[in-house]
Amino acid sequence: MFFILLCLGLLATSAAQAQPADLTVTNARIYTMDDAHPLATQMAVRGGRIVAVDSGVQDAVGPNSRRIDAAGATVVPGFIDSHGHMAALGEMLETFDLRDVRTVEEIAAIVRKAASSRAKGEWIQGRAWDQTNWGGVFPTEQALTAAAPDNPVYLSRVDGHAGWANRRAMEIAGVTKDTPDPQGGRIIRAANGQPTGIFIDRAQGLIAGKIPAATPEQIGRRLERAAKECARLGLTTVHDAGIPAGVLDAYRELLRERKLPIRVYAMIGGDGDLWRQYLKRGPEIGDRLTVRTIKLVADGAMGSRGAAFWQPYSDDPGNSGLLILSRETIERIGRDAYEHGFQVATHAIGDRANRTALDAYAAILKGRNDRRWRIEHAQIVSLPDFRLFAENSVIASVQATHATSDMRWVEKRIGPDRMAGAYAWQRFLKAGIHMPNGSDFPVESPNPLFGMYAAITRQDRNGNPPGGWVPDQRLTPEQALRSWTVEGAYAAFEEGQKGRIAPGMLADFVLLSDDIMREDPSRILKAHVKMTVVGGEVVYSE
Ligand SMILES: [Zn+2]
Repeated sequence: MFFILLCLGLLATSAAQAQPADLTVTNARIYTMDDAHPLATQMAVRGGRIVAVDSGVQDAVGPNSRRIDAAGATVVPGFIDSHGHMAALGEMLETFDLRDVRTVEEIAAIVRKAASSRAKGEWIQGRAWDQTNWGGVFPTEQALTAAAPDNPVYLSRVDGHAGWANRRAMEIAGVTKDTPDPQGGRIIRAANGQPTGIFIDRAQGLIAGKIPAATPEQIGRRLERAAKECARLGLTTVHDAGIPAGVLDAYRELLRERKLPIRVYAMIGGDGDLWRQYLKRGPEIGDRLTVRTIKLVADGAMGSRGAAFWQPYSDDPGNSGLLILSRETIERIGRDAYEHGFQVATHAIGDRANRTALDAYAAILKGRNDRRWRIEHAQIVSLPDFRLFAENSVIASVQATHATSDMRWVEKRIGPDRMAGAYAWQRFLKAGIHMPNGSDFPVESPNPLFGMYAAITRQDRNGNPPGGWVPDQRLTPEQALRSWTVEGAYAAFEEGQKGRIAPGMLADFVLLSDDIMREDPSRILKAHVKMTVVGGEVVYSE
């Protein structure tokens, strides 16, 4: 075996010398994540792969090689977000964020601009307007009607408890002065009884319920937009955590049109038709798109007290959350997955959901294995259950920013006893458990630098709490970067292709403005991506 590796190594070296590189990066500070050669200054790329790191790079430069002088910039392997939602991110990017808009006129201008680039009749959506920005008076439909007379417009308020529609939207919804207020909702009306365009609480459904499901073109546009945003942020691979057939079709179309700048590791969302089709055909492993995972959801979220615990919520004594899938169901689907060579990834937040998924997995996996089944989030784990991850080689797919978003209220929800197993990253690592990181975007920002910062500091972006929340579970910069690179690759069976900068690996890497591994962690928030390269191709450059 060693002899074969040696021969392959020699072949790679001599090939690098024989043919010039497509691309070289020099004068860089490269954190390779390759234990054999952790820090480098230059690399060469050919045919979408890294062919040389440090030694042999100069020899590989040819007359047509693109040469990037990094001018001392830091280079890391492309970030892998192991849990995001691309279509939802694209939808969010498409709906205007009106949070900081100070006047109705400005909002109208934004809507007018949107209408000019869209087909007549297409819905225009936005979110997070706030009438306290302009003195507290609710706006009316007139401004939006004038801005977009031929497009229905619906903008939701910053707290999600009110919506603002234009006349076209109300016409489509059939809302008139004779429409009664629905139970639990209110239609704001002018003195003459006409709806003003503001819909409170349940009344929002009158309009929002009429917004049609996204068309294939819309889904494709959203995915493309999300992928561009990911490329801008240095993400070269995203694990799309649960997609329906329509999104998969849109990915294929984007690939055909060469409009997908990053790589996607897609999980099939649940055991519906798409899953049954894949059981017949088996896993699909590709260069830009791989489908070899089924995503299950075992419980809800903690913020809304839907995550499933053994004991009640500390701040809601009658409620211990809701288990959505039984152990039997996970086991049944898991057996199909196992027999057909698929990975299983189960969303589990509460200790009961985690244990239920672990027990179902253990019944099938029966000890150490290389199936790489995953628990997504793995947020609150009972202390004795950490060993079940290790014993069955189960991956804990975590999202660092969830910890720093939730830390304000977690202890109130679960009490001091359960805190020991909450967002317990060092416990996973000490138990030898593989732990990729991600963001769960658009729930959190997709920016991996924000994630790195949260992982290293366990502080919010203002530096609170001082010293970090449960600081003994913080990650070192090396552990954090590993979780966004090597571990993300491992969780997708791609550690031989991605996650490190070494000869033979895919040329997926990022140039950063700052040395995030060495400087004070607060500087990570100010750092940005200067360039993103996927398969040797520059997909983003500032
Ligand atoms: Zn998710």
